[in-house]
Amino acid sequence: MSNSKTKIYMDGKIIPWESATIHVASTGAKYGANVFEGICCYYGDQQYLFRLREHLDRLRESIDLMRLPQQYSDAEFEHAIWETLKANDISGDAHIRLSIIVTGEGLYDVSGPLALVCTATPREPGTLSDRTVSLGFSSWRRIDDASMPPRIKAGPNYHNGRFALMDAKRHGYDEALLLNSAGMVSESTNSCFMMIRRGALVTPPVSAGILESITRDTFLKIAADELGIPVEVREIDRTETAIAEEAFLCNSFQEVRPVRSIDGIKLKRTAPGPVTLRLWDSYENVGRGRISKYRDWLTTRVDVQPQKSGAAAE
Ligand code: PMP
Repeated sequence: MSNSKTKIYMDGKIIPWESATIHVASTGAKYGANVFEGICCYYGDQQYLFRLREHLDRLRESIDLMRLPQQYSDAEFEHAIWETLKANDISGDAHIRLSIIVTGEGLYDVSGPLALVCTATPREPGTLSDRTVSLGFSSWRRIDDASMPPRIKAGPNYHNGRFALMDAKRHGYDEALLLNSAGMVSESTNSCFMMIRRGALVTPPVSAGILESITRDTFLKIAADELGIPVEVREIDRTETAIAEEAFLCNSFQEVRPVRSIDGIKLKRTAPGPVTLRLWDSYENVGRGRISKYRDWLTTRVDVQPQKSGAAAE
């Protein structure tokens, strides 16, 4: 993923990969105190940051819920992203990760100082047939709002994903699907779950123990507004998933992973199914700026300057 030429944005500066470190005694290192966003950059006739507004809103919500200070401006976040892309000579598609880490020392309630870190990884446009997965239901339950809120995009939440993914792989599946504490379908280890049932796009509600995914929201809107596909946001039983026509996982990192089978039962349509392919085609057109109606989801490069001191150095 990285090499000696990879550059990282940290606290207003572009620095070499190996210099981007935090102390072992920090609350970020000891207890995993961090929040982050994974953001897509797509190339159309220029580079677009996909739904940056929604990502920054969610990042601010994670900061508030973690009771961290809101010390960064939107301009600073955006500046960090464009500087990181530039420093790594990325002019096409990329996956961007914007993280806020507690670098202060002490117990797990320490809330500062913070470090703002941005990384960018180039990626090639892909085809869905190369990304299909087998899913197995995990014996682990999804974390819930009463103990470890999945709505917060915080690194430590991924320990739940780690348990489930390791367990799934140990049983021969590519990925895991988790039930929530009420026994209903929640989400996968780093993605939301969507299925096509009797022609409708069906996905669990935001109260099912899921991250409020921006990709999920995008597909719900594209399906309803662009493709005329009925949308159902409702509870899903475990057995209903395996008798779906199609299913896919979605997130900003792997975008769409069509599901071949669940618990060893093949879905009705060979993955990627026809509805998944239509949704993907529309998603790509929206993300690459080919549908004018969705242009306000795209942020283009303008010379944003951060309000705080410390402009990025080359
Ligand atoms: N659920 C979990 C647990 C995730 O980690 C992610 C990835 N951020 C998602 C869902 C999808 O969210 P998004 O579409 O905003 O990337």
